[in-house]
Amino acid sequence: MSRFLKENYKSLEVYTPGEQPKDGEYIKLNTNESPFPPAPAVVDLLTKQDVENLRLYSDPTLCTLKEKLAKLYGVEKENIFLSNGSDDILNFAFMAFGHNGALFPDITYGFYTVFAELHGVEYEEIPLREDFTVDYKDYLGRNKLIVIANPNAPTGDSRPLWEIEEIIKSNPDSVVVIDEAYVDFGGNSAYKLIEKYDNLLTVRTFSKSRSMAGARLGYAIGAKGLVEDLMRIKFSTNPYNINRLTCALGEATVDAEDYYTEKCKEIMSVREYTKEKLEELGFEVLSSSSNFLFAKHNKISGEKLYTELKSRRILVRHFTKERICEFNRITIGTLKQMDTMIDAIKEILKGE
Ligand SMILES: *Cc1c(COP(=O)(O)O)cnc(C)c1O
Repeated sequence: MSRFLKENYKSLEVYTPGEQPKDGEYIKLNTNESPFPPAPAVVDLLTKQDVENLRLYSDPTLCTLKEKLAKLYGVEKENIFLSNGSDDILNFAFMAFGHNGALFPDITYGFYTVFAELHGVEYEEIPLREDFTVDYKDYLGRNKLIVIANPNAPTGDSRPLWEIEEIIKSNPDSVVVIDEAYVDFGGNSAYKLIEKYDNLLTVRTFSKSRSMAGARLGYAIGAKGLVEDLMRIKFSTNPYNINRLTCALGEATVDAEDYYTEKCKEIMSVREYTKEKLEELGFEVLSSSSNFLFAKHNKISGEKLYTELKSRRILVRHFTKERICEFNRITIGTLKQMDTMIDAIKEILKGE
């Protein structure tokens, strides 16, 4: 750290992303990427011309991609905000709407505390229930920025829409952000409620269900006023926040919706298969509506299982936070990858 850094950034605890090893080194089940490539039409899209056109700025209005998404979800393009990964939108939301403080669960996406600290937002972490689910009653009538991942990460649990609506309805003077990064794997999206509530922002990403983590594309479907607010911030920081290549790939991705729907179904079925196998081996596995499982075993510590798997070239995600340190979060890969992991776990458990 240099002596030039502004005081309030000096004590920041930065977000630690999951390990990103070199390609092919590991079976990578640690950052919830898709095991499948993008749709064929997306893979084949880019031409030399597209690369040559990189000399030109991208479209700051992102009109075509917005229109495609608006059509897909039956909303207006004024309800859509696009960003360089959905982390960017979450960052903007804390920046723009956090001045009365923020609330989110104690066990959730680790970036929320980082954004709160970054923007000097006071926050309260509300403990999940004993069974690691959100109790919506904890969020009623609080009138602070509320951020809930639904399905939640790293637990995988999805709350029913009526509970989310109660939260939105009872906090009319503050913004409710529903982070739907995993909604395509069996969750309940709240986006249709934007017609009824001017304080709702749902945040989504192409990183998980759309096989595009490396392209960095996120979007929000939200009340028009909130989208306008986010645009103000975008045009005050980085008007060309989506590069030309990602924009083109994003458009082709929306056109290939059927491919991704099918891949999500496949991931959900492999998830249930894997859950059953892990339970047969004595794991406690939380029920999941996402593309990962959260599991622990009473014969082996979470950290040891993580280390043993890593030494066998399988990478899962282990968190050190006390309440969840006996668990590991396992991204759902292909059926073959899951079988390889289950065989490795059998071998590891034999040694315990
Ligand atoms: C992965 C993830 C994101 C961020 O996704 P990007 O679009 O890749 O920035 C946001 N929220 C949750 C809960 C996630 O797991």
